[in-house]
Amino acid sequence: MPEPDKKTVSRIVLATGNQGKVREMSQLLSGLVLDIVPQSEFDVPPADETGLTFIENAIIKARNAAHYTGLPAIADDSGIEVDALQGAPGIYSSRYAGASATDEKNREKLLADLQGIDESERTARFQCVIVYMQHENDPTPLVCQSAWEGRILFESLGVGGFGYDPVFYVPTHCCTSAELPKDEKNRISHRGQALQKLLASLKV
Ligand code: IMP
Repeated sequence: MPEPDKKTVSRIVLATGNQGKVREMSQLLSGLVLDIVPQSEFDVPPADETGLTFIENAIIKARNAAHYTGLPAIADDSGIEVDALQGAPGIYSSRYAGASATDEKNREKLLADLQGIDESERTARFQCVIVYMQHENDPTPLVCQSAWEGRILFESLGVGGFGYDPVFYVPTHCCTSAELPKDEKNRISHRGQALQKLLASLKV
């Protein structure tokens, strides 16, 4: 793949409708030479996430956004893997409690599914795959991945972040990811780390 230069990456569509992700990624990407525009500004219809891996789903979302906007696209696919549930909810994290489940319902289901599981068995990690596609038929998307280790609490704590943050305990910081200052979450999280790798590859 030809090396992207600042001219070709200057305007990029961010392929997510998740407001929590838009907030975090916009903060992470602010101050760069890139002009990142959320796909909501173009009326991009949501993509069908039919992949069986984070990588496939991230590519599906980036391709969809590039198709409808004619712009290069960045997409993230992420989720939480819980060891006691054999990696569930994984790629189904956003729809764990049903197709249009709220974050709260998903957390409630996770806590219910882990009832009776000891603290030492509640290990989990957030996974994030971020892809960059220069155009919808880009045959060599840039793929960057990162994981963030922690464990699932017995109840929700904290009001920051989104999704599973209030039940995700971060041992290095002795609090949940919903209690972390947002800059700190962005610095250490699965998404923050994957995005740093992408920016290094794009040389921005
Ligand atoms: P996606 O939009 O299909 O990638 O779904 C990702 C889902 O994983 C989100 O809806 C959340 O439920 C969960 N998730 C991913 N990243 C985070 C995070 O940083 N904090 C909390 N939940 C997350």
